[in-house]
Amino acid sequence: MLDSVRVRLTLWYTAVLALVLIVLALITYSIFWRSTLQRTDVNLSELSEAFLTTLNAEAKDQSGPDSLKQAGRVAINEHRFRDHVFAIFDDTGNMVVSSQDVPPAAAANGSSVGGPLSSPSFQSFLDASSRTDRLFGKVKGGEDGYRAFARRFSSSGKTYTLVILQSLHVQQEMLEEVTETFAWVIPIAIVLASVGGYFLARKSLAPVVAMSSQAGRIGAANLHERLAVQNDRDELGHLAQSFNSLLDRLSQSFERQQRFMADASHELRTPVAILRGEAEVALSHQARSLEEYRESLEVLHQEAARLTHIVEDLFTLTRADAGQYPLQPRDFYLDELVGECVHSARTLALAKKISLNLEESSESPIHADESLLRRMILNLLDNAIKYTPEGGRVTVACNRVGDEYVLTITDTGGGIPVELQPRIFERFFRADKARSRAENDGGGAGLGLSISRWIAEAHHGRLELTRSDSVGSTFTAYLPTGPFPSAAGG
Ligand code: ADP
Repeated sequence: MLDSVRVRLTLWYTAVLALVLIVLALITYSIFWRSTLQRTDVNLSELSEAFLTTLNAEAKDQSGPDSLKQAGRVAINEHRFRDHVFAIFDDTGNMVVSSQDVPPAAAANGSSVGGPLSSPSFQSFLDASSRTDRLFGKVKGGEDGYRAFARRFSSSGKTYTLVILQSLHVQQEMLEEVTETFAWVIPIAIVLASVGGYFLARKSLAPVVAMSSQAGRIGAANLHERLAVQNDRDELGHLAQSFNSLLDRLSQSFERQQRFMADASHELRTPVAILRGEAEVALSHQARSLEEYRESLEVLHQEAARLTHIVEDLFTLTRADAGQYPLQPRDFYLDELVGECVHSARTLALAKKISLNLEESSESPIHADESLLRRMILNLLDNAIKYTPEGGRVTVACNRVGDEYVLTITDTGGGIPVELQPRIFERFFRADKARSRAENDGGGAGLGLSISRWIAEAHHGRLELTRSDSVGSTFTAYLPTGPFPSAAGG
């Protein structure tokens, strides 16, 4: 049950609410208690004022040693309320007069209020009051105790202490009522809030539940389906949008993968079919000449080489895609590498009577993966020779421009149609499939340029077709001269 976010949210919500309500109740209780006590103190203070006024007036009218006692009795009778106890003490601590001495009049309840004056807590309050002019305190006794007020006054040249006790019974009853109210209001509020909280959590999580069941239905077969976005400005809308864009990326990569697999198997099928066909012919029972067998073996060899080439290219691209192609950079001279590549391609160019020229270039030290750069340059040279008719010219130049080496390979071939130019770096793309396949000798799967571009990018550079028209094409590789990253992926 606790595995449900709804239940957990509700429990959290209820717990926090319960805590808030309890704290609130405690604060209310203490504020209420304090203000009750303050009101009682004000009341006691006012009562003492009135009592002393009456006492003084009466004392003037009386004479004799018991005059204060008599005056006190009158004042007590006049001011006695149900819950009050009055007592006057002289400066030696002896009681002069108290409510106990005065028989209760009318509704007053003398017997019940006389008790506290003899309690030990009253004694200690009385002792404490002798050290100050006015003192408020608490005295135990009765059901709920008394609030006590003591103040000094003088009469006929002597100092006395007037003590008034007020029963806290009514206040205590009020507080109990408040506590009782809290005791049933808080649980009801918590129950109602938790039920409401559960429905609220359910309602707010309903879109998530809907999204999760929609997402659960999306698989490889219906990767084009998307989650419904109720409100694209709220958090759940953002979640759905993020999920949808994740699906977009996944489906694109899935499509790329599928296309790659389809193209790869298509490319592999042709050489394998040729291999099988040629082998079947060679193995057929008809007697064949040695020359014919040799020709068959040559075809087999050529196709096997072509197959190897395609498989190697595929392997390179797969590792590059997975970011697992470790670069092995080292220091060397780019101009020298270009010279070596031009030299290797010379035989190919000669066979087609193409003049292959390398322009003079200055020393170009570089820190890069030499074998990868060699592969890129050979790919570009191979293409330039392959797509240039006999008697044409291929020119290679390598210059430093700012922080980059700019390597250009220009041919005088027929160029690439403008509409196809943006696609030539795509995998398995061939502008002219028939010609590309017929004229090559062991490659031509349309992977060369995509691998070359990846090599340039893995070196934090780029490869572009900078010009291509009816009089020829120029491919330009830009390679940074600066410090070089240790490893890179596709
Ligand atoms: P391929 O193995 O077919 O040469 P690439 O990836 O190297 O594959 O090249 C992709 C396509 O770009 C080629 O099939 C060709 O049509 C076109 N192309 C590449 N280089 C040149 C060039 N120098 N001149 C004309 N077309 C070219």
